[in-house]
Amino acid sequence: MTGLADDGRRHEAKAIPIMEVAARLGIEGLRRAGLEFEGPCPVCGGRDRFSINPNRGLFNCRICDDGGDGLKLVQFVLACDFVKALDYLVGKADVAPDPAVVARRKAKAEAAERQRREAEEAARARAIRDAREIWHAALTGEGTPAEEYLAARGVWFPNGWPPTLRFLPDHPYMKFWPGRGTVAWMRGPCMIAAGQNAQGRITAVHQTWFDLERPGRKAQIIAPDGSLSDAKGKAWPAKMVRGSKKGCAIRLTPLGTSGVMIMGEGIETTGSALAEGIRPAAAFWAGIDLGNMSGRMLKVPGIRWSGQPDLEDADAWRPPECISQLVFIQDGDSHPKATRAKLLSGLERAAHYSPHPDFKGWIAAAAEGADLNDMRMKEVKNAGTA
Ligand SMILES: [Zn+2]
Repeated sequence: MTGLADDGRRHEAKAIPIMEVAARLGIEGLRRAGLEFEGPCPVCGGRDRFSINPNRGLFNCRICDDGGDGLKLVQFVLACDFVKALDYLVGKADVAPDPAVVARRKAKAEAAERQRREAEEAARARAIRDAREIWHAALTGEGTPAEEYLAARGVWFPNGWPPTLRFLPDHPYMKFWPGRGTVAWMRGPCMIAAGQNAQGRITAVHQTWFDLERPGRKAQIIAPDGSLSDAKGKAWPAKMVRGSKKGCAIRLTPLGTSGVMIMGEGIETTGSALAEGIRPAAAFWAGIDLGNMSGRMLKVPGIRWSGQPDLEDADAWRPPECISQLVFIQDGDSHPKATRAKLLSGLERAAHYSPHPDFKGWIAAAAEGADLNDMRMKEVKNAGTA
């Protein structure tokens, strides 16, 4: 269809780097993501589903289900044929997109996006159902190996065992494995913690598999192929969340009336602060993970971690309105800059929504390079030997 006469121009067009083609087409908002650039699709607008690989000279939109080289990109964005794309790149005519084709594509892309959202929503509902099933099957944790596990880590509860911590003696470690789908990698004793959303509903469970032979130690997870670690050499995690954790927290103590909340990421960290007995009236809730405590952060060009909350993230966690003082515990063993930025983002979000004009949020850092629970365990050991 191109004819021999086009050969020279075709070569010329193919020689134009695809990022330059993208710039000429006015494609904006692309961000570097590894070897590729990602951003909103110029045709369907789908976020983070459109990507360009400059090294390979290819683009792809997973929603539009379209992709190819620079010439293909012109056809894709301008809804034109090959010859017109060639004219556009090396040349002559001013090519305007065909409105009928654009409209048809848009409708198709919107339908695909709608389908994707529905599938996502169904998966989320299924995950929440699973989480509640696990929760209802579990026994109270008091007097079980879950209590022993925490006690061996220096964590106990001065005002009574939290009803949010339960135990299952032989709980399957369900996880995806390539070629097999989601399967039980292994089974074992597991602490089950309730992730409750702002309304107090359980939408997630946090699971910690531990080792009965070695008190206070997490279980060694063995993959279906017998491996103990992932490709990067990192041990398979012994903790896993099932359900929808967004906006949830693990409530180790009731809210109380002090207006003070102390929150660490994990049950062990938050529980360590609680067992220290420093602020006995405060509410001690575990935030599950840093990302959940921070919510989505604003992307500021040129800054890796802005530390500013993206207030459009409506489902992000924030403390109940009665809280006027929020303390985040920073563990020293993770990436300090990223961690701090995330905690600041969460505190800023809390301050923004707080009805208290004198709301205060701050970060309590564990000693450098240490995790609060490690410090706690050392203290407990020293006290025991003194
Ligand atoms: Zn698209």
